[in-house]
Amino acid sequence: MDISIIVPLYNEAESLPELTEWIQRVMAMHGYSYEIIFVNDGSTDNSFDVIKKLAMQNAAIHAVSFSRNYGKSPALNTGFARAKGDVVITMDADLQDSPDEIPELYRMITEDGYDLVSGWKKKRYDPLSKTIPTKLFNATARKVSGINNLHDFNCGLKAYRREVVKHIEVYGDMHRYIPYLAKNAGYKKIGEKVVHHQARKYGVSKFGLDRFVNGYLDLATLWFQSKFGIKPMHIFGLLGSLMFIIGFIAVVTVLIMKIVSMNSDTYHFYLTKSVYFYLSMVFMVLGVQFFCTGFIGELITRNSPERNNYLISEEF
Ligand code: UDP
Ligand code: MG
Repeated sequence: MDISIIVPLYNEAESLPELTEWIQRVMAMHGYSYEIIFVNDGSTDNSFDVIKKLAMQNAAIHAVSFSRNYGKSPALNTGFARAKGDVVITMDADLQDSPDEIPELYRMITEDGYDLVSGWKKKRYDPLSKTIPTKLFNATARKVSGINNLHDFNCGLKAYRREVVKHIEVYGDMHRYIPYLAKNAGYKKIGEKVVHHQARKYGVSKFGLDRFVNGYLDLATLWFQSKFGIKPMHIFGLLGSLMFIIGFIAVVTVLIMKIVSMNSDTYHFYLTKSVYFYLSMVFMVLGVQFFCTGFIGELITRNSPERNNYLISEEF
């Protein structure tokens, strides 16, 4: 199979028939063998009924339906697990991404040898409240991830070599950083294509302003994970050891001062009046705690249970 198209959706019933028809048209025009995987992320409108109807007319349409709203990342992750195509395309359901971009994305993966190609909504049709913070977000993401050639990390329209989607785990709100996830997994040939963007035709945006706060926290997590994720002891152990050493030196210092002052008639040193006494205590305690945190972190990373169990109510 040439292409798997994964469409995560949450209450997008009005858009689905038009989107499906458009995808089918592009696929037929280029003669691709393909599948469309709709991941219904707990929609409360009749999105899933619409999908069932569409599927009756086209055997290439498959769907997974979550029993509640888990988020775009779990939806993508679930779609990725099921994808069979050589090239995997993700796109939003709201008609903001154009299926006409698929052939060129497909070509970039199969001929130019990219692992991942991200869309770039160079000319965006979204409110200013969204486009300005997004610029800042992308600048930070570029810096932290070291992927300097991407302008638009969070574009819903992306293409992947199949192998890539099978080796990344998109959870929480990590869909904003998929290129970073891919890079951390060892897929470094990451490209970009300017894509057409349209204003949302039906329905409303599903993400509020909290996206920016959560976005930065997730970036911090990813940075930490990619640096120390499988070796937390390297950071906590180092911090802990440093603190312990500083605390230990301070303890020795106050003890020496105490001993010296005991032999002197003129000078008396009170342990508890010395700032070094308190520093030594704080640093030694913190040091031990950091060290233990590192150990616990190591233990946790070696015990990853089933993290991606989402309750699925229906699937075909
Ligand atoms: N979406 C989803 N689960 C959610 C939120 C969004 O599957 O909890 C889907 C949504 O239906 C759409 C895509 O993710 O297909 C992008 O969402 P949206 O268009 O609201 O984001 P925006 O374009 O405003 O960034
Ligand atoms: Mg949208």
